[in-house]
Amino acid sequence: MLLLSGPNMGGNELKYVSECIETGWVSSVGAYVDKFEKLSAEFTGTKYAVATSSGTTALHTCLVMLGVNANDYVIAPNITFIATCNSIKYTGAGLILMDADEQNWQMDLNLLEEFLENETEQKKGACHLKKDGKRIPVIMPVHVLGNMCDMDRLMALAQKHNLVVLEDSTEALGSYYKGKHAGSFGIMGTFSYNGNKIITTGGGGMIITNDEPLAKKAKHLTTQAKSDPFEYIHDEIGYNYRLVNVAAAMGVAQMEQLPGFLKRKKEIIEFYKNELNGIGDITWQEVSNDVNPNWWLPTLKTSKQREVLKLLNDAKMQSRPFWVPMNQLRMFKDELYYHKTNRSDFIYNHCLSIPCSTNISQAQLKAVADKIKEAY
Ligand SMILES: *Cc1c(COP(=O)(O)O)cnc(C)c1O
Repeated sequence: MLLLSGPNMGGNELKYVSECIETGWVSSVGAYVDKFEKLSAEFTGTKYAVATSSGTTALHTCLVMLGVNANDYVIAPNITFIATCNSIKYTGAGLILMDADEQNWQMDLNLLEEFLENETEQKKGACHLKKDGKRIPVIMPVHVLGNMCDMDRLMALAQKHNLVVLEDSTEALGSYYKGKHAGSFGIMGTFSYNGNKIITTGGGGMIITNDEPLAKKAKHLTTQAKSDPFEYIHDEIGYNYRLVNVAAAMGVAQMEQLPGFLKRKKEIIEFYKNELNGIGDITWQEVSNDVNPNWWLPTLKTSKQREVLKLLNDAKMQSRPFWVPMNQLRMFKDELYYHKTNRSDFIYNHCLSIPCSTNISQAQLKAVADKIKEAY
């Protein structure tokens, strides 16, 4: 099976992991955790980075720190991976799901603006939903597939309506808007190192921020909120959300290769575009000139989505439909969904992601493109 987006362990992974095993530094503290955090802060141009056990736990930690609770709503896109919404629901807050932009598949900012202007009001410097008076403290944009929306406009809207921006930038390591790294726009940003992401630690995550108290608090909360180096004194209910040193060792080796991975992802999308542009009704996610995306998962839009998916998967070339929109999942069917024409559903029914591991060969890329052409 040719994987959709598999791990590429071609660097110092084995060397660094072996070192952890040989020295016994495999668990919750160790030099690689510190090093991975430092490299992540440097790479993204933020002051602080705190490693976590996953992207989901990174998001949950951020929401807890922002005080989100059961009396609140959080605005999130309707097209995203489930972890965005799960992390919000862990706090008890309700979802306000925003439909997607037809072209770039990110949260639709026209719709967002209309929603904020018409459906919300300011009370004591905080945004509230008019309908039931509940607070909306946070908006969580997701940089879907490593692409980004008009961040200037999003940040201005958030500021005008007193919303704190927490970026689900888990798919966007190596993506930039006007030269500024994804995850560094909001109060905090997050990354995921799950097996199919652009770099992987098997499983893991990261919080980035320029805010020192938040960074300290994140470290504290994700390590059981222990407040004394000797005694088991814990000053609040914390979490065991830390990344272990042996995983961080992989992370350091992966960070060393990240520039090469990004270069390869660009070659892959360019290859596919050259091969497939003009074939049937195939189009791609629109990327604005202000965005330099990481091209994590090449995803095409076509009315023959189901045929292409079947052809590829039957040929053992792993390809996937887009996520089922959040409002269609049984747990979230009663959450608020703001839309006009339900574009999420259209995108879900027309898009598919195609094989793009950074270690895929040119011959394999060509075989995937040829297989897709068969559908037309
Ligand atoms: C991968 C991902 C996450 C976090 O995933 P983990 O598997 O918990 O690391 C969160 N949000 C989005 C949009 C993702 O793609």
